[in-house]
Amino acid sequence: MNGLYNELKNFGQVKTNILLAKFTTFKIGGPAKFLVEVTESEKLGKLLTYLTSAGEDYFVLAGGSNLLLPDAGLDKVVVQVKTNKIELLPDNQIFADAGVQMAAVVGLALKNNLTGMEWGIGVPGSVGGAVRGNAGAMGQDTWHVLKLVRAWQNNETRDWTPDECGFTYRSSAFKTNEALVLSAIYQLQLGDRAQITTAMQTYLKQRTGRYPSFPSAGSFFKNNDLDKWQKDLKELPPLFIERKKIPTGWLIEQCGLAGYTVGGAKISDEHGNFLINFDNATQTDVLTIMEKAQTEVYNKFGINLEPEVEIVS
Ligand SMILES: Cc1cc2nc3c(=O)[nH]c(=O)nc-3n(C[C@H](O)[C@H](O)[C@H](O)COP(=O)(O)OP(=O)(O)OC[C@H]3O[C@@H](n4cnc5c(N)ncnc54)[C@H](O)[C@@H]3O)c2cc1C
Repeated sequence: MNGLYNELKNFGQVKTNILLAKFTTFKIGGPAKFLVEVTESEKLGKLLTYLTSAGEDYFVLAGGSNLLLPDAGLDKVVVQVKTNKIELLPDNQIFADAGVQMAAVVGLALKNNLTGMEWGIGVPGSVGGAVRGNAGAMGQDTWHVLKLVRAWQNNETRDWTPDECGFTYRSSAFKTNEALVLSAIYQLQLGDRAQITTAMQTYLKQRTGRYPSFPSAGSFFKNNDLDKWQKDLKELPPLFIERKKIPTGWLIEQCGLAGYTVGGAKISDEHGNFLINFDNATQTDVLTIMEKAQTEVYNKFGINLEPEVEIVS
C-alpha cells in the first residue's frame, strides 16, 4: 500500500481514502482508495502504463459531470485528469489538453472570433470527457469540430483522425477501447464576432431556462432517433420532426413522471430528463428512478431509454 502510494506520487498529488462525491456534479459516490491529480499530459500516459504493468485497477475521472458513482466508492486508483494547456494554433485551430474545461475552449474561440464552438457554451466537463462522449448541444457536436485527437492506448501514444474515433451520437470508440484521450485539436473557422456572441447568448438562454439548480449529471438518458416512434408522427410536436430526435424529457413527462421521487433523488419538475440529487441521494435511489422511467416509457411508447450518464458499479 505504501509502495503504491509512493509510486503514485511520481505522477501528481495523491489523496487517500477521499470521498468521490465532491468530484462529481451529481454529488454521489463513496471513497476512493487513491486519487492522483495529474496536471502534465506526458505523465498521464506514463501513469496508465505504470498502473497497467503493476496490475493495478484504475478509473479515469475528469470534470465528473457525466458520472454516477457507487455509494461504496471505488477500491482502485482514481486518475483525475487535470492537465490544462490550451493554445491558439495557426489556421484557426485550438489545441487543448484533455483536462481543459470546455468553457475555456469556448472562451478562446470567442476571444479570437472563431466560429464552430458556440454550441459548447454552458456544457460542463473537460475536453477529454467531451471527446469520449462526443458531447454536443443544439444539434451540433464535438466530432464535427475536431481535427485530431491524441490518445494513449496499450502503452502507446498516437494521433487519431476523427474518422478513426468512431464517433456517433453521444459516443465514440473511446467508450469501449480503454484508450485515454490526452489532448485534442479543434478546427474552427474565422467568423463574425457579433454573430458568435448572439448565438452563444441565445444558446445559453435556452439552456438555463429549464435547468434545475440541484446536483445532477445533466441529461440522464440519450435522446431518441425519430425512427423509434411507433405511433402517428402527427402526435409529435413539429420541432421534434424538424430535429429528427424525440427528446427523452418529453417522453418521461408524457408518462406523468415529472417530480417522481425515490429517497433523496427525483425526476426534475422542470426537465423530465434531469434526475436530480435534492437530498443526499444514493446511487441506488437514482438507479431505482432510472428503471421506473425505462419501464414506463417502454410500456407507453415501446422505446428503450439508454443512459447517457456513465453508471459505474
Ligand atoms: C448541468 C449539466 C448539463 C450538461 N449538458 C450537456 C450537454 O448539453 N451536452 C452534452 O453532451 N453533455 C452535457 N452534460 C454532460 C457532460 O457535461 C458531458 O458528458 C461532458 O463531456 C463530460 O465530461 P467530464 O470531463 O465531466 O467527464 P467525466 O464525468 O469526468 O467522465 C465521464 C466518462 O469519461 C471518461 N473520461 C474522462 N476523461 C477522459 C479522457 N481524457 N479520456 C478517456 N476517457 C475519459 C471517464 O472515465 C468517464 O467514464 C451536462 C452535464 C451537466 C451536469
